[in-house]
Amino acid sequence: MWWEQHERDAPELVPTPFLQSIFDHGNVVGEVARGYVPHGLLIGGPPLSLEDRAQRTREAIDAGARVIYEAAFLADGVFVAVDILERVSDGYVLIEVKSTLDVGDKHIPDVAVQLYALERAGLNVVRAELMHLNRECRYPDLTNLFVREDVTERAREALQSMPAQIARLQSILAGELPTVAIGGHCSTPYACAFERRCWPAKEADGITTLHNLRKAKAAKMIAAGCVSITQLPSDYRATGPAARQIESLRSGHSIIDARLGNALRQFTPPLAFLDFETIAPPIPRWPGLAPMAKVPVQFSVYTVDENGEREHPWLAEGALDPRPALADALLTACAGAQTVLAYQAEFEKSRIKELAAALPDRAAALLDLESRIADVLPVVRDFTYHPAYGGSFSLKKVLPALVDGLGYDDLELADGASAATLLEKLLFDSASLGAEGVAHARSVLTKYCGRDTYGLVRLHARLWELAAAQGAGA
Ligand code: SF4
Repeated sequence: MWWEQHERDAPELVPTPFLQSIFDHGNVVGEVARGYVPHGLLIGGPPLSLEDRAQRTREAIDAGARVIYEAAFLADGVFVAVDILERVSDGYVLIEVKSTLDVGDKHIPDVAVQLYALERAGLNVVRAELMHLNRECRYPDLTNLFVREDVTERAREALQSMPAQIARLQSILAGELPTVAIGGHCSTPYACAFERRCWPAKEADGITTLHNLRKAKAAKMIAAGCVSITQLPSDYRATGPAARQIESLRSGHSIIDARLGNALRQFTPPLAFLDFETIAPPIPRWPGLAPMAKVPVQFSVYTVDENGEREHPWLAEGALDPRPALADALLTACAGAQTVLAYQAEFEKSRIKELAAALPDRAAALLDLESRIADVLPVVRDFTYHPAYGGSFSLKKVLPALVDGLGYDDLELADGASAATLLEKLLFDSASLGAEGVAHARSVLTKYCGRDTYGLVRLHARLWELAAAQGAGA
């Protein structure tokens, strides 16, 4: 908070693609939510000053507005903007809109501070609500897109400590940069953008990279002087991947388990390699879909058989439901494969089961395909460790570590969140990209998705090499 206020241009405050996609979805949901409490007056945001926004809100209230969007209040140096303020017969309802399927404790302080500012401004708030997306909603019936959850009691409870909390935070802001120890609060309930300033740099052997180590425990270890995995006491208890990671870093060598070859033999050829790219629109677009449902709109399949390696890329076009065409193309691409390999395959399996449920006439074929999918990740995780994994078994870490010269640095798209954002733009807002932009987007998306499957083909081959070398050396 101190850095956010005192270094507003800090590079850490530029949202990551992942965060930006969350913000974009939040804005869409916020706008759509207004339609469910309609006929309101929108108070403008920046560049209007906070004072002007509060003044306009006051004027709207005095003029008897029934609903106000982005209703702004300034009280005791605290500024809040209420997503929707609704006047009812006996007072006001404060509505905080969330673009999530569930709400929890972490959302209550947001409501409580708004309640504080509204009451300081003299409003009689009779109810506080969190309005969030409804997981029971199914397109095309969007009448129940939102749930309005009454959190008045919980907000009132949190309100009791609000004056003291506000005073404390204001005094911190007015002072020098406070000294705060690192800990679990750096990632829970939200990841802090300034982690790099406070935590030790992420070295390959850094204690924070220890597989599955929780942040709070890592902070304690660092405070005790243990910043590297190699500094762990010899009796430190670790199992599975973490134990292999420790052993690998202490010895400086990769670990290849003697059972790797057997693990690979479960993948009966002919093989196909599959990767989906999905979107998860907060407002569903196609029949039967719930808000935020993940929908595959692109895939890459590599087949490896007696005819050699061949890529079968597929990418949806336009805003129409792509699932039937995607399913047909997918079934055709994987038709000759006995085993279809994916990385973190539960994701692909789940999407295919959902496709089967949505497309009854193709369900049998899709479920058969789903039964042929196998996961490469457990094989990597349980039978190998390379110091460059950095405690992670994501393909983006494993691939460059095991397959020379193959990574993601040369790609324009860096991650799945950026791909999903571009996919949504391509499908639903292609006009904003223009013809050239559309062609470019299709090209970078095809390269990005294809890298995962091509990488998986190379990784699978490399694992066989390692197993063979291990066998030869045994
Ligand atoms: S990384 Fe942790 S200690 Fe540092 S500013 Fe963020 S929350 Fe505070």
